[in-house]
Amino acid sequence: MTDLKKELAKGINEKNIIKDADMREHTSFKAGGHASLLVIPSDKNELKFAVKTLYASQMPYMIMGNGSNILVRDGGYKGALIKLGEAFAFISADKDIIHAGCGALMSQVANEALKKGLGGFEFAGGIPGSIGGAVFMNAGAYGGEMKDIIKSVNVISRDGEREYELVPEKLQLEYRHSIFCDTCDIIESVKIKLHEESKDKIKSMMKELTERRNNKQPLSLPSAGSFFKRPKGYYAGRLIEDAGLKGLTVGGAQVSQLHAGFIVNKGGATAGDIIELMHMVQATVMDKYGVMLEAEVRIIGEEA
Ligand SMILES: Cc1cc2nc3c(=O)[nH]c(=O)nc-3n(C[C@H](O)[C@H](O)[C@H](O)COP(=O)(O)OP(=O)(O)OC[C@H]3O[C@@H](n4cnc5c(N)ncnc54)[C@H](O)[C@@H]3O)c2cc1C
Repeated sequence: MTDLKKELAKGINEKNIIKDADMREHTSFKAGGHASLLVIPSDKNELKFAVKTLYASQMPYMIMGNGSNILVRDGGYKGALIKLGEAFAFISADKDIIHAGCGALMSQVANEALKKGLGGFEFAGGIPGSIGGAVFMNAGAYGGEMKDIIKSVNVISRDGEREYELVPEKLQLEYRHSIFCDTCDIIESVKIKLHEESKDKIKSMMKELTERRNNKQPLSLPSAGSFFKRPKGYYAGRLIEDAGLKGLTVGGAQVSQLHAGFIVNKGGATAGDIIELMHMVQATVMDKYGVMLEAEVRIIGEEA
């Protein structure tokens, strides 16, 4: 590990290579184990250098954005997490196209769209992730999804050797799925196509959706949003609520009293608490309704 850190430090500022990083500090769940290495590249060259070095070392690695859909098991991730944040957060607009670096937050892109009088992104402004993470997950809300607005994606191959562009037809965008879930290639930036819209209309839509989120979601407690994917023909939250599981608690983890689709960290939850609660919810819903709930949250790493 020390050798690998030294190798990485040949192309990346050493202060951006963190050993044994506590992922409670880097995920919205504020729970879970450590990553052997957390690498925070400050530009594309550093990113490519990191990826090439890690690829050659055969150490497992994974890209992360804002950490709002990731849970690291308590035994930790025995590999490197490469965090693409502020350094990749550029946003520019040309007519009805916005070009955003993968690290741009959805709220920042939404504000830029508002500033330029471009509609079509209102649904996404309250999703607390990066646009890279949103493409990866084909994130969606209130009837919209990334699939509706992506024009193209600039990609870096997983080994850091190739850069290429993908058009929507090649992205395999489905409910909470994209081609990147399979290839693990890196989303470097995204172009989205919006439409001219009055700023007042955009503003009032954003306000309405923010109010809906504030009223219906437990935003004062750490979580990763809706924990489960929506099963075909059902709503996960409704099934969980009907099964009487609101408020069910394991250690510091609880099925939200406000929105049963959320598992929240009431304080001091371990990843083990959250995962045990997940299994209890899955078993009860399967037992009562014959529906298997699949986690939307990406659970990585090893058990303690
Ligand atoms: C309060 C709350 C509300 C939420 N509401 C919604 C909602 O309404 N709709 C919704 O869809 N989601 C929602 N989420 C979940 C989450 O915000 C989204 O899934 C978001 O798109 C994840 O982005 P991120 O940057 O945080 O990704 P991360 O959690 O960092 O990563 C998620 C996955 O994306 C991959 N990834 C991230 N960036 C890249 C990149 N540049 N290249 C390749 N792979 C990458 C990671 O490897 C990982 O597998 C919510 C979460 C919270 C906490």
